[in-house]
Amino acid sequence: MGWLGLDDTDHLGGGCTTWTMHRLLASLPEGAVLVDAPRLVRLHPAAPHRTRGNAALAAEIEVKCARESWIGWLEHTWRTQIKPLGDRSTPSTHNERQQSPSDPGMVWFDDPPPHTLYLRAVREILSERDLPEAKWSAGGRGRIGATAAVAWNGTEATWEGIAWRKEEHGKRRVDADLLASLDDDPSLFACRDPRKGRGLIAPRGASPVLFGLRGTTREAVEKGGALLLNAAATEPACGWQVHRTNQASGDHLTSVISTTVTNVQVKRGGHVFIETNHGAMVAFRPSGPVATLASSLGAEDVVDALGMLVDGVVHLEALRHVSGPMRSPRRPMCPHCQRRLKSMGQQQGLRCLTCNHREPARWVGVEVTPTAWIQPPIDRRRHLSPDLRYGLPDHITFVS
Ligand SMILES: [Zn+2]
Repeated sequence: MGWLGLDDTDHLGGGCTTWTMHRLLASLPEGAVLVDAPRLVRLHPAAPHRTRGNAALAAEIEVKCARESWIGWLEHTWRTQIKPLGDRSTPSTHNERQQSPSDPGMVWFDDPPPHTLYLRAVREILSERDLPEAKWSAGGRGRIGATAAVAWNGTEATWEGIAWRKEEHGKRRVDADLLASLDDDPSLFACRDPRKGRGLIAPRGASPVLFGLRGTTREAVEKGGALLLNAAATEPACGWQVHRTNQASGDHLTSVISTTVTNVQVKRGGHVFIETNHGAMVAFRPSGPVATLASSLGAEDVVDALGMLVDGVVHLEALRHVSGPMRSPRRPMCPHCQRRLKSMGQQQGLRCLTCNHREPARWVGVEVTPTAWIQPPIDRRRHLSPDLRYGLPDHITFVS
């Protein structure tokens, strides 16, 4: 038994590490057998060298052939299939972030490194110096993700079935009616955007992936994937594999910050910056309802905030308005003549200017009703973001 890890074999112009791993597993030598589903592991969502969603792949393999011939196969596969995928780069057309050339990494471990290494790779930016020594490894920066993917213990898992295209060109064809029918399956998620009725499972741009179907059970993903692949309007695929994933685990998040807002500013472009007693936070415009809620906040509002700390600022992935000052505060009406009471000055109470009715100073207005957790629309969430309608993941604690 042992573990194979692979990462950083793609660039925006083409390729996908899922496809590279799929082909690699299809070419295992005699005496080497895949155990369980391969793993698709999302790592730090803001890692500077990521291509898209920062995923790495791992697979448990039972090796019955001699160690020398196994290591020989690893060497040969690296040299002929993986290494040639390095040093490729395509600039993004919609994002200012600098894309770095691909720098593949491939690792083999007899025993997986501790799960804590995976947690670090999801929450921090690791370097090659942070890695435990593999039994065998090759390549560059990709060894970081490859090792972290092997280190994930896989116990809190969701599933993603991926189908790959025969041709990497032209518009993807995935049967829309069949996809719509999968909306009713509560074990599948993020199939379609309910607001736009648009399918979310097919990537845009150059990628060998035809679609990725995500779900909470392996059975639902296997069944849904088979239906989609056999549907009339779906283009022919050249491969299909269900992966065990850490998607929706919330593993990149550690705590809910319960804090008080001190200032809110809506910046150019619609991004909302919040100053709080626990530091700066930002709700980016694409976060939709999160940015809308953030922009409605003001000083003394109490919120629960969930997000990653990036360069000293919490990038909000969920926000909850807990309490705060009354909205639209006004003086009450006179009970006798229905005119608004006036303040007589500090400590002087209120008075009706018409009938001289007096009462102690007070405000009327709209009390803050606590909100549920507000999250970005499904197509704007990170792959790792949990769906908070089902509650907070157990590992997330509160700080206040
Ligand atoms: Zn009055």
